[in-house]
Order: sequence, then C-alpha cells, then structure tokens
Amino acid sequence: MINLILFGKPGAGKGTQAAFLKKRYDLVHISTGDLFRHHIQQKTALGTLAQSYMDQGDLVPDQVTINMLEQEVVQNPQAKGFIFDGFPRTTAQAQALDEFLNVQGMAISATLALEAADDLLVDRLLKRGETSGRTDDQDEAKIRNRFDEYNAKTAPLKAYYQAQNKFFIIDGVGAIEEITARLEEVVDQLG
Ligand code: ADP
Repeated sequence: MINLILFGKPGAGKGTQAAFLKKRYDLVHISTGDLFRHHIQQKTALGTLAQSYMDQGDLVPDQVTINMLEQEVVQNPQAKGFIFDGFPRTTAQAQALDEFLNVQGMAISATLALEAADDLLVDRLLKRGETSGRTDDQDEAKIRNRFDEYNAKTAPLKAYYQAQNKFFIIDGVGAIEEITARLEEVVDQLG
C-alpha cells in the first residue's frame, strides 16, 4: 500500500499533481479543501461551519477536519492507497492521522513537499481565482493570511515527518510534467 501526503503552501500544485499520482499508482485522492467545498455547495451543516473559516483563509477546526477525513478513508476499504491533499495541516491532525492509520494497519509512506516562492504562489492563486470562482483566491490579503496560517500551523509538520524519515522536498517550479517526473522518481524509490 502506498499512502502519500501532498504537502505545500496554497498554490504549490498539490491538486494538479494529485490527479497524476492518483492515476499512476491507482490511489484514492482525498482533498480536504475539495470536500469542504462540496459540503458548502450542498449546503450541509458542515459546509456552513467550514465556510466561515475558509472565507477568511483560516483553517477549519481540527476535530471537524479529522472526523471528515477519517470518514472518507473508512468509506474506501478497497483502496490500494491514498493521496492526502491538504491534510494534515496541523500537528494535531498529523498525530490523529498516524494513530488512525495505525489502528487500520496502515501507515504514511511519504510526505511530498512541493516548494515554490511566495510571490509565484500569489500569482498562481490570483490567476486561479479568475476562473475558479474561489473567493479565497481572489483577494491578496486572504491569500497572505493562508500563508500566515501555513507558516504558523502547517510548516512545523516538516520536522514531524523528517523525524520519521518520510519528508521529501520537490522543486515545485517548472512545467507540470517536469514536476510530475520529480514526484514519480521519489515515489518509485519508496521501499
Ligand atoms: P489551498 O491549498 O489552495 O489553500 P485547499 O482547497 O486545500 O486550498 O484549502 C482551502 C481551505 O479549506 C483552507 O484555507 C482551509 O480553510 C480549509 N482546509 C482545507 N484543508 C484543511 C485542513 N486540513 N485543516 C483545516 N482547514 C482546512
């Protein structure tokens, strides 16, 4: 089983690359951002709760996010593995994920961190915002707030996964296929 975490700031290319990895390794792709947006669209209670945070570029509370993620894994018992995209984003989420997977007899294989400079990411997000309709991508202040959230709450996960020898840095600048090839090289080397 291969279980991958796609790690990186907003705009780093996690969703784009997840689509490739999913096909290449026959994995189930779970994007917490996509799940929340689905709930918002369906006007569920969870969607209403999540929206108030997402609109500001703040993280949704841990327990809400963890419960949603675990439910999604449980609903895919036949999966050959998972790509976690946008999760974990806090140390509490990472610890919960490790414990949960452990109980299921599973484990994280690798955390793949896509890296690019902030200014490039802002450009990418503003461009995405022109067509995606995502309000959190249309306002530079909200984007910068997401980076602040990342730096404060998500960046510490680098040390968390490095301590487990599972952290791989991938240059996220270049053509999509080039970045894909870099990811593939790392995944193919996983024992
Ligand atoms: P991006 O990576 O571009 O920020 P996402 O679609 O992954 O986009 O996430 C959008 C928003 O959804 C985040 O800003 C946050 O409010 C919420 N969200 C997604 N994943 C999580 C998570 N693991 N924990 C808390 N909030 C989350």
